[in-house]
Amino acid sequence: MSNLSDQISSRRTFAIISHPDAGKTTLTEKLLLYTGSIQTAGSVKGKSSSKHAVSDWMDIEKERGISVTSSVLQFTYDGCCVNILDTPGHQDFSEDTYRTLMAADAAVMVIDGAKGVEAQTKKLFKVCTLRHIPIFTFVNKLDHDARDPFELMEEIENVLGIRTYPMNWPIGSGRNFRGVFDRQTRRVIAFEGDGRANATKKVADIEAELGDPSMDELIGEENHRNLMDDIELLDGAGDELDLDAVACGKLSPAFFGSALTNFGVEPFLKEFLRLAPTPRSYTDKLSGEPVEPTRDDFSGFVFKIQANMDKNHRDRIAFVRICSGKFERGMDAYHVQGGRKLKLATGTSMMADDRAIVDEAYAGDIVGLFDPGIFSIGDTVCTGKQRVQFPPIPTFAPEHFAKISQVDTLKRKQFVKGMEELAQEGAVQIFRELGAGMESVIVGVVGVLQFEVLEQRLKSEYHVEVYRQALPYNTIRWIEGDMEESTVRGLSLTRDTCRVQDMRGGKLLLFTSEWNLNWAVEHNPDLKLSEFGNVT
Ligand code: GDP
Repeated sequence: MSNLSDQISSRRTFAIISHPDAGKTTLTEKLLLYTGSIQTAGSVKGKSSSKHAVSDWMDIEKERGISVTSSVLQFTYDGCCVNILDTPGHQDFSEDTYRTLMAADAAVMVIDGAKGVEAQTKKLFKVCTLRHIPIFTFVNKLDHDARDPFELMEEIENVLGIRTYPMNWPIGSGRNFRGVFDRQTRRVIAFEGDGRANATKKVADIEAELGDPSMDELIGEENHRNLMDDIELLDGAGDELDLDAVACGKLSPAFFGSALTNFGVEPFLKEFLRLAPTPRSYTDKLSGEPVEPTRDDFSGFVFKIQANMDKNHRDRIAFVRICSGKFERGMDAYHVQGGRKLKLATGTSMMADDRAIVDEAYAGDIVGLFDPGIFSIGDTVCTGKQRVQFPPIPTFAPEHFAKISQVDTLKRKQFVKGMEELAQEGAVQIFRELGAGMESVIVGVVGVLQFEVLEQRLKSEYHVEVYRQALPYNTIRWIEGDMEESTVRGLSLTRDTCRVQDMRGGKLLLFTSEWNLNWAVEHNPDLKLSEFGNVT
């Protein structure tokens, strides 16, 4: 396969999102098992390695254990070149988790069948809807007692605002889990019970008509009766699998299964690859036109920057989502924001224990470029006469805030430089209180681990020690439009609401509660607030 369009049309690039413990890692592992051809070492983080994430990151001596914030797993299956983007979760949850979704063409949402929609899923889901990408649902842990599937579907619709289309339907759950009914083939895929945790083989599917007495034997009379009722209800609802609605993220094909026991994973993968989109086009900000992935010229944007993997070299890796054409190691390209040509000297991808050197890659793929400190999040690189520039990546709402000030006031320069550089790199967001200087700044993060990383890096890279004072804000909103500073000052707000400005000059409000936010909205009719900054 050498033709550009064949290469690109075989690609499927997606991220798996879930609340911690719903089974994202387990599902990823099982997906990899089917392919047997993982291009990376250390692939999926295990529970034990994720525990080390903090210290490994902090201890810059170590090059290992960075898999938590790296990268992408690539494998081929059924003629598809599949890229799974890793979305850091748990304690290392950060803006990178959100940014990664900007590089994905689809998302798989893993939901714990007993718990339903949980907080982190909600947050990640919001970012997916911002991009209108297709979302597939995998309801996991059916081998444990799960909630009623109708109730789960309803919850997804009510809480997330997306309708689901069950591709299969569970027969019981927990001890009574008997398998799933595939709505397309009208077959039952039977669950064979315990002891299959590491099974890699497909479970035999059994052809049996609904209503057929042999089904009673297979899944039990009562289950059979319930299943017939359920299917009648589902079919009667008359919902078609509307592919257009799937494509723009309005309808989510839903699958039931149990990743741990390897049940329902392969059928899911097959259907997913059939329905998931090929690399999508991104819009060129300059012309307003879409940049088609099959365009001959190469283009891509930086969505994540990983710093200091090697103490001896202050290098960073800029992860680039390729939007069009073909990447070749060593190619000359134009860095749009930097306004200059550069050689894309090192293409690395799939960082884990080894940095695999990538010689070529295509639209839909992710490459890690060697970055001597020139890239910022959202930057475009491209080749060809007609330059393109992709819109900036939105700024996502931090949820934890602290005032950071330097211990040694003589080190003001280093402090400001460090804060600005780290903010530019996207490690944290920094804000300045309206009217205040840069002696101290307000730092906002999505995950608290980012505070520690910030302190550690200021110390080791800029030789600056800082004080951190936690602030009580938990909700942030960008003020839409270019509101004058004096107008912002004149807003009618509760006393504990803070007016700040971000690095780009955007004005924001920090609230200590939802109540204060509502107060601001109610008392300032002209005030328009947004949960994301920089959305174009
Ligand atoms: P993540 O935090 O979303 O990546 O979740 P993990 O994949 O690490 O899974 C969290 C826990 O749930 C682990 O102990 C898994 O073994 C367990 N788990 C994952 N999938 C299933 C499943 O299908 N059934 C059961 N019973 N446990 C599961």
